[in-house]
Amino acid sequence: MPQRSHIHPETLLAKAGCQPDSDLGGATPPVHMASTFERSEDGTYESGYVYGRLANPTRDRLEDTLARLEGAASARVFATGMAAANALLQTLHAGDHVILGDDLYFGVRNLVHGMAGRGLLTYSEVDTSCADTDSGAESAAVQAIRAALVPATKLVWIETPSNPLLRITDIAAVAACCQEHGAALVVDGTWTTPLLQRPLELGADVVLHSVTKYLSGHSDVLGGALVFRTDNELTHAVHAIQQSAGAILDPFSCWLTLRGLRSLPARMRVQTESAGILADWLSDDPRVSAVHYPGLAHHPGHAVAARQMTGFGAMLSIRTGRSGDETLARVGRARVFTRATSLGGTESLIEHRRSVEGEGSRTPADLIRLSIGLEHVDDLREDLDRILA
Ligand SMILES: *Cc1c(COP(=O)(O)O)cnc(C)c1O
Repeated sequence: MPQRSHIHPETLLAKAGCQPDSDLGGATPPVHMASTFERSEDGTYESGYVYGRLANPTRDRLEDTLARLEGAASARVFATGMAAANALLQTLHAGDHVILGDDLYFGVRNLVHGMAGRGLLTYSEVDTSCADTDSGAESAAVQAIRAALVPATKLVWIETPSNPLLRITDIAAVAACCQEHGAALVVDGTWTTPLLQRPLELGADVVLHSVTKYLSGHSDVLGGALVFRTDNELTHAVHAIQQSAGAILDPFSCWLTLRGLRSLPARMRVQTESAGILADWLSDDPRVSAVHYPGLAHHPGHAVAARQMTGFGAMLSIRTGRSGDETLARVGRARVFTRATSLGGTESLIEHRRSVEGEGSRTPADLIRLSIGLEHVDDLREDLDRILA
């Protein structure tokens, strides 16, 4: 696997997965669909490939690209983001303990709760978010994590910005605390991508991506990835689970993701810029009771976000201060935004998050989550004006 790359991500990604094909020298990679590979007469495997579940050439190209992009030791891709999360949780032993940030993708929270219900692990939920500046004093968030850490704690799992409240966690501070304790820090990097935030360089051990979102970027792939800072026991355990449990990303989805990755820097730049413009505009609007976006100077995590992110991202949530039904009815007026869950595509999405999450949701009933796409920002603003009217 190629080692750390110091070239700029734009340059790396412009030719993502495009190292010349040994057969014909095609400028873009082929899709290797073979499920199995022929052995030589002497019983060896000339190409090194044996069977598609174990390894596949197109998947290797994607995993190499993601590892280089994140400055990681290795990356593994899975059928979905949740399959990646599940593979990581499968490495735990009975009785192991996990600390979860208390504002987290609801699917991960439900998966952990389900496993705990079957006696497979225990967990604590902690508010890891900060309102911290560079004061030097240990933040309340780190104190809370320290208090929750027990000898059985193996993983600390955070999202920053978190979903759907866009709270910010100080990755470096939490990583230092985890390192002291010997627990692995997992950062869900789906919302930021390696372009806006680099958790491994801040001391995290694993980054999880829902490839479904920005990395593939066109709302036509389901996929997930785990990216590792070093090669260690956890890395090997995840690799073994990927190969044996088989929740792998299929070759065509790997190929589509490589295709999407080539435009990731350009997409992120435009989408982040538009989100910032809309967040500023919305924060002055009396019809909105709150705007959750870390790029706003009054956001409680703004200082930390400015330190650890190179852009504030293209996701934001707004609050209407009205009932759930009234909020849902407002979402129904959208004409430019697509009314759908998910995020990270070229098209802007709007959703009433609480009714998507369903039973057990902790999301406020008046919250609308926005994923900003590539449309002209004025058209998006006009649509939001209609929604809020
Ligand atoms: C979508 C999402 C996931 C789950 O990924 P899937 O590809 O839908 O399985 C996990 N974390 C975050 C932050 C997400 O947005």
